[in-house]
Amino acid sequence: MKIKFWGVRGSIPCPGPRTVKYGGNTACLEIWFEDIERLIIVDAGSGIRELGNDIMKRDIVKKGIRAEILLTHTHWDHIMGFPFFTPIYIPGAQLTVYGPVTYEDETLEDTVGGQLTYRYFPVRQAELAAKIEYISLKEEKLDLGDGITLTTKYLNHPVLCLGYRVEYKGKIFCTAYDTEPFQNVFCSDPNDPSYDEDMAKEGEAVAREENQRVGDFFSGSDLLVYDAQYTKNEYKSSKVGWGHTSIEHAIDFSEKSGVKKLALFHHEPLRADKEIDDLAQNFCVPKKNSGMDVFFARESEEIII
Ligand SMILES: [Zn+2]
Ligand SMILES: [Zn+2]
Repeated sequence: MKIKFWGVRGSIPCPGPRTVKYGGNTACLEIWFEDIERLIIVDAGSGIRELGNDIMKRDIVKKGIRAEILLTHTHWDHIMGFPFFTPIYIPGAQLTVYGPVTYEDETLEDTVGGQLTYRYFPVRQAELAAKIEYISLKEEKLDLGDGITLTTKYLNHPVLCLGYRVEYKGKIFCTAYDTEPFQNVFCSDPNDPSYDEDMAKEGEAVAREENQRVGDFFSGSDLLVYDAQYTKNEYKSSKVGWGHTSIEHAIDFSEKSGVKKLALFHHEPLRADKEIDDLAQNFCVPKKNSGMDVFFARESEEIII
């Protein structure tokens, strides 16, 4: 599998002189399976626009573009590039869009394709030339054919959000974004009037169990791409409950889960290149015990596993 990053930022695109090195586009990466000529895309943030332009220069255009787009969730930074993805306008292109099931009134198609209405955009969904199929996912395991398997896992985010585990020829690629460690949802302060000892213990146990399930989900990954938007200090000071992980937790938790290579991802848009470089100096040192390799994902970077 060749993984290429097309957008590594969270929340909102942030192009400009401060973000030239790591890039300013929001979440999008591709997995290219060279031997079977299959293409899987994870998320349709603003980075998918450049990916679409690149695809149009590839040989697969002649054979007919076929791609699976896995959406981790439908927050705007993960779907905003979809209307600008050129293959949706190409006759004969076949795209399958997977995403977490929505329990609201709107279907996945309404949520993603609904960006293509005159209210927001000059082209309507009905005018797209590609054949686009939408498939809603829960926690499940799917056979994508050609020996590719896909497993999904719910993460902890303010909207339903899936982690993806893609396995092919003994190699494992995982995503864990956007997510935050599961927490005890009950009051754990004995001095608080709402404190209930049994509920506090129960909440603790549930959070521990859910975190364990997430760790099991990406254990043994050859590459894990993990939401690490904040530092631990930023997280603790004002970001608890926002649905993102600290760099420190991502590293520690991945190492304990037996991950081989960790890409820190979904960078805070306020973070300039120099600041990420400084964080990398601190955090991206080979881990003595596990040998796990850690790096901050950079737009255009390719990793082969
Ligand atoms: Zn996001
Ligand atoms: Zn999100």
